Parts: sequence; structure tokens; C-alpha cells
Amino acid sequence: MALRLHNTLTRSLEPFEPLEEGHVRYYTCGPTVYDRAHIGNFRTFVWEDLLRRYLEWKGYRVTQVMNLTDVDDKTIREALERGVSLQEVTDPVTEMFFEDWETLGLEDVEATPRATETVDAMIRLVEKLEEAGLTYESDGSVYFSISEYEDYGQLVELDPEQLESAGRAESDEVYEKDDPRDFVLWKGGDRDDEGEVATWDSPWGPGRPGWHLECSVMALEELGPTIDIHAGGVDLIFPHHENEIAQAEGATGEPFVRFWLHAKHLLVEGEKMSKSLGNFYTIPDLLEKGYRGSAIRYLLLSGHYRSELNFTLDGLDEAERALDRLEEFRRRVREAEVDADAADGPAGELPELAREARRGFEAAMDDDLNVSDARGAIFELVRQGNGRLDGSGERLTADARDAVLAVLQDFDRVFGVLSLRDRERSSIPTELRRWVEERLEARSAARERGDYEEADAIRDEIEARGIQLEDAPDGTTRWKLREGEFAAVGS
Ligand code: AMP
Ligand code: ZN
Repeated sequence: MALRLHNTLTRSLEPFEPLEEGHVRYYTCGPTVYDRAHIGNFRTFVWEDLLRRYLEWKGYRVTQVMNLTDVDDKTIREALERGVSLQEVTDPVTEMFFEDWETLGLEDVEATPRATETVDAMIRLVEKLEEAGLTYESDGSVYFSISEYEDYGQLVELDPEQLESAGRAESDEVYEKDDPRDFVLWKGGDRDDEGEVATWDSPWGPGRPGWHLECSVMALEELGPTIDIHAGGVDLIFPHHENEIAQAEGATGEPFVRFWLHAKHLLVEGEKMSKSLGNFYTIPDLLEKGYRGSAIRYLLLSGHYRSELNFTLDGLDEAERALDRLEEFRRRVREAEVDADAADGPAGELPELAREARRGFEAAMDDDLNVSDARGAIFELVRQGNGRLDGSGERLTADARDAVLAVLQDFDRVFGVLSLRDRERSSIPTELRRWVEERLEARSAARERGDYEEADAIRDEIEARGIQLEDAPDGTTRWKLREGEFAAVGS
């Protein structure tokens, strides 16, 4: 089946095929590392991860590049206010960003270039634009001249009157532009205190790159000249992405991006996030309230990316329950008795139901990543499957077990929530894990000697630490923290 995606460039759903067979070149605008990212930012990043995983699931090799904006107005302002270097601001924030990235189970991307390490290439691109006659210099700065570039306005219908107020632009109003639509490529000249924290030499004198330039260059360097998919939040459509197109196409003469994808914003408790409303959450804020990364991830993936998503704490509780339900079903299937005779009973149709769920899942995801229907297909299997297991006395055929577990795995390779829960559970403190394993060995040694009194005493000792043991008929012992699922197989 063919994947269809909504392309902002054509404002329509289009069948997706990469330019090079089997290989997707994918660029995602990364974080501005001036302060810890909030859950709104992560809505976009988690959705981008979902798309990546789905492309992989469809069999594509994906090369994803995500930049780190480590020099721009915000990072510079922060450094100046705190009286520290740019790197002293951006290094710790970058570290926090990847900590949160891990917590939410995002896959590693192939490259994460930093703007500050790509300045030479940025200067080269400005030179190319200069050669193409698309720039002018004013007061030590270099601007992109929109009037020289015919194709401006591919992503949005532009009303020149409104241009100045729309979207997130850099605060370059203090600079001398010929036309309000023009944007800065290289900021030089008198930059007040800026120069203290962010200055590079260039053919136009000391200065620093403009924000829009950064992304064009990092995308072109790693993936160019033509990229299959470029994604970000809707706030980036204009002027950021519009300007990226102008710079890239102005310099290379080739189409820059084939599919532009944009996610709508996250609201929290129905409102725009803001510190004063007290609805401004970071990932650690939610972990401190006792929620797990898996539930946050699940909730962030719960609505279509082209609709706003309302994030609520109640929603997180529901997400935890939905994941409990999935896990419990997976456990039942794993632990059910395998019995060829179950083919004639209520569990007999499970392989067909599993295949239906997989078809439903793929059809929904192919439809511009319709996550609600995709989850619906999986939960229908959970509902049906639970009923059949009730009816068959927890018995199913090997075929049925394998088919159902395979669909759950399909779902999880894309949604990445069950594996994240497994990981969260196995992140039981290492010392505790080691201790339990050591005690379990002592216990089985005691049993082998026939010293059952000692074995029972060890069992009590382990249980006193909040751990529950389960001895399986085959002689293995599994254990878990009392609140969770089984964490590991001991001996
Ligand atoms: P920034 O760090 O500001 O450059 O933003 C990083 C990413 O988060 C961009 O793709 C933004 O479009 C996206 N973003 C910012 N605010 C929100 C929000 N409230 N909901 C969803 N995405 C957002
Ligand atoms: Zn960008």
C-alpha cells in the first residue's frame, strides 16, 4: 500500500515515494538550545520520530538530519544576560535535550549538526547567493533580496502588508533592509553587545549567520540538493521555511524539498502554554509528578499531527491505563497455554483477527499517519483477543500466539511505547537488580541442597524489598517490582 502525506507545498495529500529508491532523505528542524525544551516542542519531535519509524517499518532506509540551533537571538540573549559564553548556555541545554529524547524513546538520528560548527559552509552559501545576484550588503550585513527572486512564497500565499508581523522572525528590524520582506543572511556591522559572544570572520567583516540560513545549509550539506521530507511545527512555515527554500533554491537552482510537513501545536489544558498560566511543562516536570516517559509519548502521539493536540494530566492518566491494557493483553497471550485443539474453539479466529488488525493499522498509517484509526485497529484486536482468551480458558494455537504478538510488535516498532515501558521497568536501579539476582542464585543453590528453610528465608528477604517472585513450572524464577510487570528472568 502507498503512504500518502499532506504536503504543505501543494496543500494536498500526495503519494510518497523518495527520489532515490528505498532511501528517504529527511530533515527536521531541531531545537534552539537556549532553554530546556517543553512538551510542545516534543509533540513535534515525537511526531517526527513516528514518521521516521513508520518509513522504516515500510522498508525504507532513512537518513534523518536534525540541526541544533546553537546561535541565534535567543541563545545570544541568554548568554549576554547571564554573562557567560554561548557554549556555556548551549552545551548543558543540549545535554538536557537528549536526556528528554531518551526518556521519550526517540530513535537516534543519523546526524545532529550544530550551527556553530557549520559557519564556513554558511559563508559559502551566502557567497553563492551573492554570485547569483540575490543579495545586497548594508552596514556590514548581507540581506536576501526578495525582489530579485521570483519564486518567493511557495508555502504561503503572501500578503506583503502582513509579512512583517507573521511567524517567528529574527529581531533584525534594527538592521537596514531595502524591503521589509528581505531577511538577513549574515548579521554584521554594529551589533551592540552581541559580538562579545558570537562572532565569526567573513568576507563582509565580523558577524554571525542568520537563523534561516543555518537550516538551509545544514540540510544541503548533509542531504542536498534535494531532500525528500522536511518537517517542523507550523510556526516555522513562515518565514523560516519559506526563507530556507529561497536560500537553497537560489543557491543550487534545484528543487530543495519535495514534501514539506508541518505539525500543529500542542495546547495544555486547552490553552497555549505559558509560564504565567502554570501549564508550562518540561519532561522532568511530568516525571516528578510520577508519570512515565512511555505515557507522555503515548499522549503526544494521540492525535493527528495536523490538528492541535490538547495535553492534560487526566490524559496522561488515561495513557497509563491504555498502556496497562496493551501490556496486560500481551502478557496474557505470551503466557497462554499453547494447544493445537484451541483452533476449534473461540481462539480459532485469532490469526485472522490479527491479520485484519495489521491491515487496519497499515491502512490508517498510510493515510497521512492517522494515528487514531491505527490505534483503533490494535485496540479492537485487544478487545477481541481478550474475549477469545476468556472463552478458551487461556488457550490458543501457536499460530494465533505468534500472529497476535507479531501485530503488537508491528504497532510497537512504530509507536515505540511498549518497548519503552519494558525499558523503564528494566531501569530498576542496577544495585537492586544485582542484589536480587545474587539472592536468587543463593536461593536456588539452597533448594538444590534441599535446604528449603534457607530458600524460604531468602524468598522472604527478597519480598521484603518490594519484589514479587513467580516460580514457573519449568523451574525458572521471574521477578518484578510489586507494581509493575515482570522485569527479568532469574535462575
Ligand atoms: P524551537 O526550539 O523553538 O526552534 O522549536 C523546536 C520545534 O518545536 C519546532 O519544530 C517548533 O515548530 C516546535 N514547537 C514549538 N512550540 C510548539 C508547540 N506548542 N507545540 C508543538 N510544537 C511546537
Ligand atoms: Zn529550521
